[in-house]
Amino acid sequence: MSFKALLVEKDEEGKTTAAVQQLDEAQLPEGDVTIAVEYSTVNYKDGLCVGSGGGLVRNYPHVPGVDFAGTVEASSDDRYKPGDKVVLTGWRVGEAWWGGYAQKACVKADWLVPLPDGISTRNAMAIGTAGFTAMLAVMALEDHGLKPADGPVLVTGAAGGVGSVATAILANLGYEVAAVTGRPETADYLKSLGATQIVPREEINETVKRPLEKEVWAGCIDAVGSAMLARVLGQMKYGASVAAVGLAAGADLPASVIPFLLRGVNLLGIDSVMKPYDARVKAWERLAKDLPLEKLEAMIEPATLPDLPGLGKAILKGQVKGRVVVDVN
Ligand code: NDP
Repeated sequence: MSFKALLVEKDEEGKTTAAVQQLDEAQLPEGDVTIAVEYSTVNYKDGLCVGSGGGLVRNYPHVPGVDFAGTVEASSDDRYKPGDKVVLTGWRVGEAWWGGYAQKACVKADWLVPLPDGISTRNAMAIGTAGFTAMLAVMALEDHGLKPADGPVLVTGAAGGVGSVATAILANLGYEVAAVTGRPETADYLKSLGATQIVPREEINETVKRPLEKEVWAGCIDAVGSAMLARVLGQMKYGASVAAVGLAAGADLPASVIPFLLRGVNLLGIDSVMKPYDARVKAWERLAKDLPLEKLEAMIEPATLPDLPGLGKAILKGQVKGRVVVDVN
């Protein structure tokens, strides 16, 4: 049985090329569950893996695709049977293991999550790692006491995948959302997701001059890192928390510890890749309840397998808006 996949190959000089090819099922990695993939998506990491690999891909030829959703075809694990709808995000699938840019995938049962009622395979990929991570960030802020009455919550990198879903979830939960974007043309889109305030990127992107500024934000979901995160720490209200999700501007943190010491600010790390199963199930259940489907629909940019090399380059340049949903069939 053959199937279509985006295959990345590396030549002797180390140059990679990605092209849609017909593969044989015997080429799939060995796993417990074979899935007929329906949809995948595009994350920043996918941009790296479709291109030069960014140090993430171990072996070539490689099928990228960090996330996928589809229907179980065969399973040697009792938890899954043919016909079950499943979603996979993380676990280094699409990096160290063949991923979702294919009509078939074979993975470990431990990595899968059954799709909750009310979320289709297409919606699951409109959510993807980005949306799942946004939900984990919201849940971490709630666990640290955040409530809608506390004041505005800042979302950085708001027009990107994590930021778009974070904005929609927070607004739906009744939070006042301030969305930081470097793309003023996305203001209407961000307002349609529920943002009440648009903060231009340059207003908040400067290096820290004073470790403490006026207390403004009751919480923050940060997809950007670097100077922006450092600056935001000094603008948090007393005892407030920042969920650190991403590094779109860089992995450094040119900050002072003063906001932690004098204002009790918390910096919460969010990891979606190795998140244990029970927490994954909880986050998907929350997504089914707290992310309005009409807002999710507004974020979707549809794509197919041949679009992926171009989309991979675009996401690395911060040019993708919202959530790309790749129909692999
Ligand atoms: P996107 O590329 O979709 O979004 C990132 C957004 O950040 C851009 O859309 C842009 O938003 C903003 N941005 C980009 N470059 C800069 C810059 N130089 N300075 C300030 N803002 C910038 O990516 P995702 O939303 O999928 O992921 C966001 C980040 O989160 C990435 O770093 C990713 O690696 C990380 N991530 C981490 C996960 C985890 O488990 N911790 C899981 C998923 C993602 P705008 O145009 O609105 O300014």
